[in-house]
Amino acid sequence: MKIVLLGPPGAGKGTQGDLLAERCDLPRYATGDILREAVREQTPLGREAQRFMDAGELVPDEIVIDLVRDVLQRPEAAAGFILDGFPRTVAQAEGLQATLEARGIELDAVLYLDVPEEELVRRLAGRRVCTVCGTVYNVHFDPPQNAGVCDRCGGELETRDDDQEETVRKRLHVYHEQTEPLLDWYAGDGPPVSKVDGVGDVEEVFGELIELVDCR
Ligand code: AMP
Repeated sequence: MKIVLLGPPGAGKGTQGDLLAERCDLPRYATGDILREAVREQTPLGREAQRFMDAGELVPDEIVIDLVRDVLQRPEAAAGFILDGFPRTVAQAEGLQATLEARGIELDAVLYLDVPEEELVRRLAGRRVCTVCGTVYNVHFDPPQNAGVCDRCGGELETRDDDQEETVRKRLHVYHEQTEPLLDWYAGDGPPVSKVDGVGDVEEVFGELIELVDCR
């Protein structure tokens, strides 16, 4: 299965993408995670990407298109993959399509997690991430047992720099301007988009998603 997971920031792509990856035994490639790792390690890619990420803007298309092209060449991606957070612009979708076509591959599913704006702001502003193991919590509806401490590994929890309120607003604006048009693009040029209601508990949303892909 070759799957693209679309949705605004805070829609639950990471959480649902992880579950899907586990259930379908597929690698999940999240451009946001790959870029954050590059920033942490201050690689040339990370240094280039950092200022855009800190500002809540998109990293330029050619950088992420190249990144994903490389990632999809990994041997473990040959049998299938889940792309999370990519594409985010029409140019990226076109770049992905060109990469796949050159290799004779077609996407099997484009899944869209739909969540209303007020809920997104609540989720993003309340999100806390473990600095050690990456587990994600939310102070409003999935808090850790002890504030600021990871249940799983005892690591310290932090708010992502780009989850600060002003940057959240900027990211949502960027989403509406640049990523939302993708829904129409896929409706015309790619496989149809399957829309899933992303509000509800994690298992409920996953139950809907898994119905749409053929890897039960
Ligand atoms: P995410 O973790 O998916 O919310 O991504 C965090 C940040 O990484 C975004 O706000 C962008 O700055 C950058 N980023 C992630 N994926 C992409 C992409 N496909 N295109 C451009 N920038 C991206």
